[in-house]
Amino acid sequence: MSEQLPADIRPGRLSSAEIEANFGDMHSPLARPEAQVEADRCYFCFDAPCTTACPTGIDIPGFIQKIRSNNIKGSAHTILSENIMGGMCSRVCPTEVLCEEVCVRNTLEDQPVRIGLLQRYATDSIIQGNIQLFQRRDDSGKRVAVVGGGPASLSCAHRLATLGHQVTVLNGSEKLGGLNEYGIAAYKTINNFAQTEVDYILGIGGIDVRNGELLGTDFSLADLRDEYDAVFLGFGMGGVNELGMENDQAEGVVDAVEYIAALRQADNKAELPVGRKVLVIGGGMTAIDIAVQSKHLGAEEVTMVYRRGPQQMGASKLEQDHARTSGVVIRHWLAPDCLLLNGERVSGVRFEYTSLDDDGKLNGTGEHCELQADVVFKAIGQNVLWSAIGETAAALELERGRISVDDQRKTSLADVWAGGDCIAGSADLTVSAVQDGKLAAMDMDRFLRK
Ligand SMILES: Cc1cc2nc3c(=O)[nH]c(=O)nc-3n(C[C@H](O)[C@H](O)[C@H](O)COP(=O)(O)OP(=O)(O)OC[C@H]3O[C@@H](n4cnc5c(N)ncnc54)[C@H](O)[C@@H]3O)c2cc1C
Ligand code: SF4
Repeated sequence: MSEQLPADIRPGRLSSAEIEANFGDMHSPLARPEAQVEADRCYFCFDAPCTTACPTGIDIPGFIQKIRSNNIKGSAHTILSENIMGGMCSRVCPTEVLCEEVCVRNTLEDQPVRIGLLQRYATDSIIQGNIQLFQRRDDSGKRVAVVGGGPASLSCAHRLATLGHQVTVLNGSEKLGGLNEYGIAAYKTINNFAQTEVDYILGIGGIDVRNGELLGTDFSLADLRDEYDAVFLGFGMGGVNELGMENDQAEGVVDAVEYIAALRQADNKAELPVGRKVLVIGGGMTAIDIAVQSKHLGAEEVTMVYRRGPQQMGASKLEQDHARTSGVVIRHWLAPDCLLLNGERVSGVRFEYTSLDDDGKLNGTGEHCELQADVVFKAIGQNVLWSAIGETAAALELERGRISVDDQRKTSLADVWAGGDCIAGSADLTVSAVQDGKLAAMDMDRFLRK
């Protein structure tokens, strides 16, 4: 590297007004006339591929038909009966690779029906107005412990409460919502929507919440199995993968998820320290989110570096395009080789060029380049932080570091279910976590009524 300049990291790179504008709603909600026009575009396919592609199986033509006839309550009921977080999912689902990708109108000459925006149209007024569409069944006399407060656990808790069971949610963080509250990009969920949705979910009743209580520290899985009739585990993934290089912990090497959590909780985003030159290592949704948000906070140069090509990136093409239009540079076929330091601080990264051999194996080519940085974000995936969760791992069957479950999300223990990011085979999406929680609750109900 030619010159070692002091790190340039500071708050207030943009004015509060500029930051507010940058973090405004990513997609404007549809007004009634737009929703009507969009709903009229649906062909109401008999074996709707969009419904098959939805991980929660929402009857999409069914809810769109109800929007057409201005039956918003009915439409929201169709959505929320399959996905109680239909409001958040309408904002954060990668619809371009789910329902909208398979929409029969998604052709070269046409555009898919904007299912996500229609779903938001149908659910917003119901959730924001706290209009409860579900009623609890009579008390079953059964008590269930739900560990975690993210989409998997809240979906499970809501369904269990609806089915008449008494639920206790034991959640490690200060607020409920999991990554909806602490992880999702700020411009996808504005105006504290995550907490509005949590309030809506709790509005069903029968759910007792204990925030700030950690499995592995404040209680054990064995305690819960003694005290409750069944247990659901939805503690997500608390750990991030390390870059695996010497000086991984150097000043200026930052965990992207931790920074995003601070950003989501900041009262004034202009007060967050931001680097002038930012490097993001990774190719998934988290990498895109930290890169775009760094740019929105005023970083001058943001470069995302991924060791494979655009097709292999975890982030969809739409997300990659979004990053580029936000001013992020995406570099492919570069693997981090070593961190460059200026004293104790990171000043850049040396990368090795990569290519695939005939067997599809990734190899270094032996050529190198260096990129300067004030901040290097690690965004190469997460893992379950078993060390923090105590003896739970020893009691459960695991598969590649996550909990092994059957089709109904039952673990190897007869009275314990699990869902969301902490289970093997998870798609690591909000919508799939919601589906896990729902399926588990329905299976738990069968078990509890036996
Ligand atoms: C930065 C980022 C951006 C993302 N963006 C999107 C997106 O745009 N769209 C999308 O669909 N998905 C996105 N995802 C993925 C999505 O957020 C997750 O798949 C989803 O939140 C998983 O839900 P969960 O309930 O399994 O876990 P989490 O949401 O992680 O919730 C876990 C909960 O468990 C609690 N907990 C943890 N440990 C313990 C313990 N020991 N005891 C008690 N409680 C504990 C936590 O406090 C938390 O409340 C993103 C993920 C990240 C990291
Ligand atoms: S595939 Fe498209 S057109 Fe067909 S029902 Fe679904 S949204 Fe409507």
